[in-house]
Amino acid sequence: MRNGLSKDLIARVLGTAPKYTIAELEEKFPARNLADGAMVTRFAPSPTGYMHIGGLYGALIDCKLASQSGGVFMLRIEDTDTKREVADAVKIIEESMHRFGLQYNNMPEYGPYYQSQRKDIYHSVAAELLATGRAYPCFLSADDMEKIRENQKAAGFATGIYGEWARDRDLTEEDIVAHLDNGEVPSIRLYSMGNPEQRIFCKDAVRGSIGFPENNEDIVLIKSNDGLPTYHFAHLCDDHFMRTTHVIRGEEWLPSLPLHVQLFRMMGWNAPMYIHTSTIDKIDEETGKQRKLSKRKDPEANVAFFLSAGWPVEAVIEYLGNICASGYEEAKMKGQVNTFWDYEMRAKKIPMSGALFDMKKLEWWAKEFIGSLPVPELVARVTAWANEYGNDTNKMQVADEKYLTGVLGIERDNPKRVRKDFITWSQTLENVAFFWDELFVANTEYEFNKDALRAFLETYNESDDKDTWWAKIVAIAESLGIKNGDVAMNLRVALSGRTNTPDLYSIMSVMGGHRVIKRIEGAMK
Ligand code: GLU
Repeated sequence: MRNGLSKDLIARVLGTAPKYTIAELEEKFPARNLADGAMVTRFAPSPTGYMHIGGLYGALIDCKLASQSGGVFMLRIEDTDTKREVADAVKIIEESMHRFGLQYNNMPEYGPYYQSQRKDIYHSVAAELLATGRAYPCFLSADDMEKIRENQKAAGFATGIYGEWARDRDLTEEDIVAHLDNGEVPSIRLYSMGNPEQRIFCKDAVRGSIGFPENNEDIVLIKSNDGLPTYHFAHLCDDHFMRTTHVIRGEEWLPSLPLHVQLFRMMGWNAPMYIHTSTIDKIDEETGKQRKLSKRKDPEANVAFFLSAGWPVEAVIEYLGNICASGYEEAKMKGQVNTFWDYEMRAKKIPMSGALFDMKKLEWWAKEFIGSLPVPELVARVTAWANEYGNDTNKMQVADEKYLTGVLGIERDNPKRVRKDFITWSQTLENVAFFWDELFVANTEYEFNKDALRAFLETYNESDDKDTWWAKIVAIAESLGIKNGDVAMNLRVALSGRTNTPDLYSIMSVMGGHRVIKRIEGAMK
């Protein structure tokens, strides 16, 4: 520790006198009144204008752990990087949370939830550290730091501002005043007491206790250019005063863990329980190797992709849920739970290394999910998607709700044998496109048995019930000496252009007599 600064000097260094003492902050943000075991979590994205699937994965874990334990899940906007701000970035995050059903509860008592609006809090904590000699103003310029870096590199030392390299750590009050009088604006740095020869043990709920060399870097707490905190300092202040119990964040933060534990210990505060999640990976198509989903290369790295491509959000959540809680699928198959939200996940079992996101597996979850939807709900979802994201063709398909309901209702009345051929809302519409004359593509390769088609038209009556209809097909097959199935196949291909469709009788009923006759006549030409 060094000598603390006087009150007046602290106000000069920070630009204003601190608004609160630590004791006042403790009182302003009291311990939450929650039952034992209730987890307080937060999703803390930087507003970059893009929501990565890895972010959604983390947010899902946050939301699930809080909700299943009767805790609180918050959304905190980490907008301290003023250089990187993007218009609408927060809206994109909020909208994604809303769309994927991740409900947060930002209680005003613990806010504000934008870091840019919490300056008073950071400055108050920084003031306390300056007063007690655990932080100091640093006037190193970008050029100074670059020189230090070069020298360190040349000499083979670790780079950074630490020990003797930390030029300003022991400036006297007079030195500081001289710099300030000179118009220089300092950053506030930690006066690190760590010794890298010693180890600090840090706990991660999944990885257990991990030993790291102690941190000796005088890291920046408050930046000089905008007076905003660095991630490290904001994490300390926010997660303490928001009373976060569990910090779930990407494994890229694991190397910073000793620093964070050091900061909490220095303040005499209990550190939250940390869970560092693995990256969300895929198998690279070219190399066959597992790698992180990339914003640049993989459309599915962006959660917006799933919305516009028409994936049911529930399926994405179910699948991500199964990645973070691998027992979920089995419990679901056994009928013990209905959705991921009913399943009791265990923080300790969250995977530690490269979780694979496989679009084929997502397809399975999507088929299961769509298969479970009642027809009116299916129609509503497909329609909503088409109207928001679809092209003109999709919009045309959903314009007649009654017809669409008939089309999508085929073979969906038997809950024990649900069809699982719909994957996305867009693929659903594509799958049934032949029902619309504008989209129907006649099969020009199939060799129609025109006698069978003719015979069918001769006796066809659109109000026949299924048995009567089938009896007519059997009679045609007999008279032509072919199989019943051949007659049906001719009709199937004539009506749909395809050799594989759902129930033929239902298709005809939905299409209606006029369309059926027109298509069969078309095939006979
Ligand atoms: N803003 C940080 C990030 O986006 C948050 C990490 C955390 O959850 O603490 O990586």
